[in-house]
Amino acid sequence: MTKCMRFAILFALLMVLSVSHFVQAQAATSEAKLSVHWEELTASDFREGIHRSQGTCLLPFGILEKHGPHLPLGTDLLDVRYAALHAAEQEYAVVFPEYYFGQIAEARHEPGTVAYSREMQLALLQETTDEMARNGCKKVVIVNGHGGNESLLPFFAQSQLDKPHDYVVYIFDRRSPESGGPAKKTSVDMHAGESETSKMMISRPDTVHLERATNESGADQHRQNLPEDVYTGIWWYARFPNHYSGDGSAATRELGKYQMDWWIDTLAKTIRAVKSDEVSLKLQNEFYEKSKHPLDTQP
Ligand SMILES: [Zn+2]
Repeated sequence: MTKCMRFAILFALLMVLSVSHFVQAQAATSEAKLSVHWEELTASDFREGIHRSQGTCLLPFGILEKHGPHLPLGTDLLDVRYAALHAAEQEYAVVFPEYYFGQIAEARHEPGTVAYSREMQLALLQETTDEMARNGCKKVVIVNGHGGNESLLPFFAQSQLDKPHDYVVYIFDRRSPESGGPAKKTSVDMHAGESETSKMMISRPDTVHLERATNESGADQHRQNLPEDVYTGIWWYARFPNHYSGDGSAATRELGKYQMDWWIDTLAKTIRAVKSDEVSLKLQNEFYEKSKHPLDTQP
């Protein structure tokens, strides 16, 4: 072999190595760059996203309603999307675009509230999860950002048993930890209060008007005298007619960071648990099959 030939072979080898290195690097970058936003993916990247998420998709559920005198109408939507997008970046999942078509009849007396009818809420949610599933989201995690949905969502999940579906609806409905973190200064803290205002100081500080937080009262007005186990739809208006519960002026970035980190980490763990859940769909299918002929069901 001449010196020139040896050089040519060496050169060719180097070329092959560097090309394969380049291809690997490209693959690594495109893997790292796959967006978690449904609407930002191309059609073929969407296919890759569904594959990478193992069919696990998030539906962050917000609302448009008054949030005290100091927070924006979209507070729940902004907060829940912040938590969901960060969680999906920790544990890959495809995140559905802005969704805010929930239960908020109790705030129809306040400006800016968008309250769809009961029929529309259920129909739209069903068609949305059906469409997600048709596109490969066989595990739909509804991440609830709005207290007024707390009855709607378990009912929606329960009613998935009324007829067969080839996917499972999971509801994740916690926004703050039970305890831990910086000590809280207020005890009434249900809506636009210390916790929610603190979280907004992390997700969208530019929309928080802390100096206005005491312009209205968020105190419990106790205007209904009924035993605790009697429910009426007007209970919230009876207690908090300003659609404000708590005192947002007590909010701090420290509390917001603690609660938001907790929300993101807990949701990331939930995505992981949902991905490895192989039982729910199997049991659903068994249930649908048996429910076609209940007289054959044996204990
Ligand atoms: Zn809220």
